[in-house]
Amino acid sequence: MAASSLTALSRLVHLTPSSPKSNPKPFLSFSSSTVPILFTFFTLKLNSSSSYSPILSSSSSSSSLSSSSSSASLNSSAPMSYDKQLAAAKKAASLAARLCQNVQKGLLQSDVQSKSDKSPVTVADYGSQVLVSFVLQKELPGQAFSLVAEEDSGDLRKEESQETLERITKLVNDTIVNDGSYKVSPLSKGDILTIIDSGMSEGGSNGQHWVLDPIDGTKGFLRGDQYAIALGLLDEGKVVLGVLACPNLPLESITSEHQNTPNRVAGCLFSAQLSCGTYMESLDGSPPVKVHVSNTENPEEAAFFESYEAAHSSHSLSGSIAKKLGVKAAPVRIDSQAKYGALSRGDGAIYLRFPNKGYREKIWDHAAGYIVVAEAGGVATDAAGNPLDFSKGRYLDLDTGIIVTNRKLMPALLKAVQESLKEVALPSL
Ligand code: AMP
Ligand code: MG
Repeated sequence: MAASSLTALSRLVHLTPSSPKSNPKPFLSFSSSTVPILFTFFTLKLNSSSSYSPILSSSSSSSSLSSSSSSASLNSSAPMSYDKQLAAAKKAASLAARLCQNVQKGLLQSDVQSKSDKSPVTVADYGSQVLVSFVLQKELPGQAFSLVAEEDSGDLRKEESQETLERITKLVNDTIVNDGSYKVSPLSKGDILTIIDSGMSEGGSNGQHWVLDPIDGTKGFLRGDQYAIALGLLDEGKVVLGVLACPNLPLESITSEHQNTPNRVAGCLFSAQLSCGTYMESLDGSPPVKVHVSNTENPEEAAFFESYEAAHSSHSLSGSIAKKLGVKAAPVRIDSQAKYGALSRGDGAIYLRFPNKGYREKIWDHAAGYIVVAEAGGVATDAAGNPLDFSKGRYLDLDTGIIVTNRKLMPALLKAVQESLKEVALPSL
């Protein structure tokens, strides 16, 4: 890793260095010495539709998740470990990020085509989905494999898409060869189509399901801005791990005074496992550092995130909420689940998302980000304060919008949201 990246990492004020026992490798799994954390987010009401009511244990009122020794001693049985799956997920997302970075560098107009819903999709979306599915199956052999992912091969099977399919096939094969971890014969176009369609699982509340957005924030990707490869794992309907690869996210805070520094080192990999906290490392391989959401109780200093695209989230509603709360800073508008990653390390304290009425959120747009923030001490709910339920298939069933913040600010935020929703109407789709 470049020395400048290490310096940038060490300057992040919210980071607590973990103490890996051995030298870090690019695709580190977490050390088994990681201290389990009694994580009280999951003591929020799980099936109720009434307003938010955190049930805090005595240890949870502490704002720091890093000092968890007393919590650990309260755990009578060791939590289920997903170490192997997490290592595989980090490797899969990192390799997919490499493909995406290469495509973004040489983004050509011909890389953009239109899906039937007219959203832009690039060879990188498909290539990323293939690589993630391929790596997960290679790294976790002999395990049942279920993947809920955004893309399917329908458009690529059309006559006019053959050139695109060839380009995807070459990109995927080149990425695998350059990585050097897998000695396999080159994948054919047929293999590519089949692997893309391995993502057609419906998910649900039984068993384990991977949840993937191969490029979250495609519009940001096309603009050269933020995007993320977002991969989560559901076990019995609960998100148990998540990885966010954010190739364009600076290693330093994007809301601090450093934000306008030119040539900042970018490329972050966030990873979280249930009861084990959230870590960040650079995409080119640095020691993971534990991260924590902002502890601020003061809305005046709580910078907030929202979508860059006004069509994805009402900027007027979020403006009204911010005003009611007394937030002073201008909104930070960036694409993708990079917002969850930035929030998990304390860049800003609030994320507001209010799509048009009738829009149905998909689980791959939130699963990884949700656990990355939750394990960093944050809370994500719908606009009525209900926890997000990932067990209902490919869609999230929720009331109005998604709000994310720390536990101290959530009650005031919920109040402001409820008041603003009465005053500012959300447009219909
Ligand atoms: P963001 O970059 O946070 O605005 O979110 C990007 C994600 O928004 C994409 O991956 C899409 O799945 C999703 N999206 C697409 N259309 C809409 C819409 N009309 N409202 C809300 N989200 C949308
Ligand atoms: Mg998405």
